[in-house]
Amino acid sequence: MNSGSIKRLLSSFSEFLPVERMIVSSGHRFVLPFWHAVSDVPLPHLSQLYRVPTVSEFERDLDFLLKNYKPASVEDVFRLANTKGKSDQNLFFPSFDDGLAECYHVIAPILKKKGIQAAFFINPAFVGNQMLFHRLKSSLLLNSITQIKPSGIKSAEQLLLKHFPSKNIRQFLHKATFTDHLLLDQIAEIFGIDFDHFLKQNQPYMYLQQIKELQKDGFLIGAHGMDHREFFLSSEDEILEQISASMEFLIREINPPVNTFAFPFTDFKVPNSVFEKANTDRLWNMSFGTAGIKDETMKNHLQRIPMESGVSKDGEKVIRTEYIWFYLKSVFGKNKVSR
Ligand SMILES: [Zn+2]
Repeated sequence: MNSGSIKRLLSSFSEFLPVERMIVSSGHRFVLPFWHAVSDVPLPHLSQLYRVPTVSEFERDLDFLLKNYKPASVEDVFRLANTKGKSDQNLFFPSFDDGLAECYHVIAPILKKKGIQAAFFINPAFVGNQMLFHRLKSSLLLNSITQIKPSGIKSAEQLLLKHFPSKNIRQFLHKATFTDHLLLDQIAEIFGIDFDHFLKQNQPYMYLQQIKELQKDGFLIGAHGMDHREFFLSSEDEILEQISASMEFLIREINPPVNTFAFPFTDFKVPNSVFEKANTDRLWNMSFGTAGIKDETMKNHLQRIPMESGVSKDGEKVIRTEYIWFYLKSVFGKNKVSR
């Protein structure tokens, strides 16, 4: 049983535990939940990757957070990054990754209405719909597979066999990484899907002007790597290049009050030397991971809680489960981030 299935199991009885007491005694009174998009209409470019909450589900999650925590300001987050997230009051700070259009059209208006500050982490290569993230390509292809003629499937399978021992298209698409960009484009051609047309027609990402408006409204804009490649498949030089190029874009185009970076996918397997170099060279003022509620050892680095990981569609249960998971791991001394 993997950690995802255990968490799903734990979430089913998480509601019986006293969350107020768990928050205080865990020492994790500051939580940083993160999402990507919120939408009442289906989004085929995301639907195979994670469950996108509806507006009412998202508002219900925010109301749970508002009931148990106070919204943190950007200054609070910056201060708490120096104390490894240790806070003497219950605070929360939401963030949203990948710079998707729903951040501007759906999420920001809800946050403004509820008086909540937040961060939006963007990938310069996607800003203005210039390029489609490889995982979004996978999602679109997975969603179209049932409409493809057998001859098309066969051609795609033959293409895969030139590169891999298996011709299983679904399996390939579920696991495709940035190194598979070309193959994804070739499969799209076989399937008759035009990613450039999709970008123009659907405009899945925010434009620079919209991002600047979010900053004017008091939201924090941060970087998330140039093109969202997997750092665990990248060399140390490549990781540092992705960090510094995306931070340069951020400072040049947006110039936020605090320079922040959220690791794409995960900071797991990112060598300590990358953190040390980024801190010494002042590439950022603080950085963020996605490991949930954990004791962090790295300086100026905070862990966030993935809200769409499939543990539960109810954000309250996701947060409660994070605390139970934290307690269970502490019994085995495994609640510290190890890299
Ligand atoms: Zn991301």
